[in-house]
Amino acid sequence: MSARPALELARAEYRALSLYAPNRVPCAVDVSDNTNLWGAPPAALRAIRDAENSALTRYPATYAAALKHALAACAGVCPDEIVTGCGSDDVLDSAIRAFAAPGARVAYPEPSFPMLPLFASMNGLAGVSVPLGAQMDIDPDAMLASGARIIYLCSPNNPTGRALSDDAIARIVERAPGVVILDEAYAEYSGDGWLARGPRYGKLLITRTLSKAFGLAGLRVGYATGDAALVAEVEKSRGPYKVSALAERAAIAALAQDRAWVREHIAHVRSNRERLTCALLALGLAPLPSDANFVLVPVVDAPTVAQRLRRCGVGVRPFPALAGVGDAIRITIGPWAMMQTVLDALAEALACA
Ligand code: PMP
Repeated sequence: MSARPALELARAEYRALSLYAPNRVPCAVDVSDNTNLWGAPPAALRAIRDAENSALTRYPATYAAALKHALAACAGVCPDEIVTGCGSDDVLDSAIRAFAAPGARVAYPEPSFPMLPLFASMNGLAGVSVPLGAQMDIDPDAMLASGARIIYLCSPNNPTGRALSDDAIARIVERAPGVVILDEAYAEYSGDGWLARGPRYGKLLITRTLSKAFGLAGLRVGYATGDAALVAEVEKSRGPYKVSALAERAAIAALAQDRAWVREHIAHVRSNRERLTCALLALGLAPLPSDANFVLVPVVDAPTVAQRLRRCGVGVRPFPALAGVGDAIRITIGPWAMMQTVLDALAEALACA
């Protein structure tokens, strides 16, 4: 039977969509996805091992109320000012669907998190990309001039690594006509953030994740803070049962007992980030300054460099022709032995250029 009829049945905006990073293959040293390369937090692992049968046989809590309480206590907000989801991807997607009807505009920086244009298409929205300005910071007036129903910001920005300036964020939040989503997936590494400030502004939604500093990417737990009325709309759009019972248990355990473990690994990231940056400079490269757990390194012909690294068992994320940067590879910061393997492979890959 031909695949054509199915294609004709698909929504027009879906026909042009492709799967996210479909070519990802396993490799010995995978520094491509900005996860916690030191491992998983110990109390979360214990919670999974000790889980009772019902965590598998029964449905999880509809809207993860216990997790919302644990997150609220850590974030310094009320439980009804939190919404959770299956990763922050889910929270972002749900928020976009909740606040913009098909055809409306959603603005995001260029370059930034590559899922945003995808979520825009999946929800029938018109994506408007706005180039980052000087120092890889956001240009607030250009963002506001987009007239978009939703403005998405990411700080520290993926894949450039720099945190956006507070002044620029504040200017956008004050003047935006619609909802502002501030994605703080990497904020634990930059030291501060807007998390507790979310609910103070009726239109600001701050998204976070347990996939990075908390080392729980495989469990898929994300959340957002915002005004109670705002997060209630995201919760409707997200729907019930999005956080599995095992994920909820492990996340609550990590939030209660693994905060020191998380802090310790954030410190390791910061010192290895510094050390890796110096070593990359010594290789004649010019990594961008980073406030996150990765560095972006401009190179000539990123896909070829990534392919050569893969032959040495090292997986990095290539970004060909990134706006304002050119070709670049992104390297997640991990334990130093891993970084040394990446450096050795990179020296070899560059030598055969
Ligand atoms: N936002 C940014 C900026 C990211 O880089 C990522 C992960 N790549 C996410 C959100 C989504 O993370 P998760 O769905 O694992 O919470």
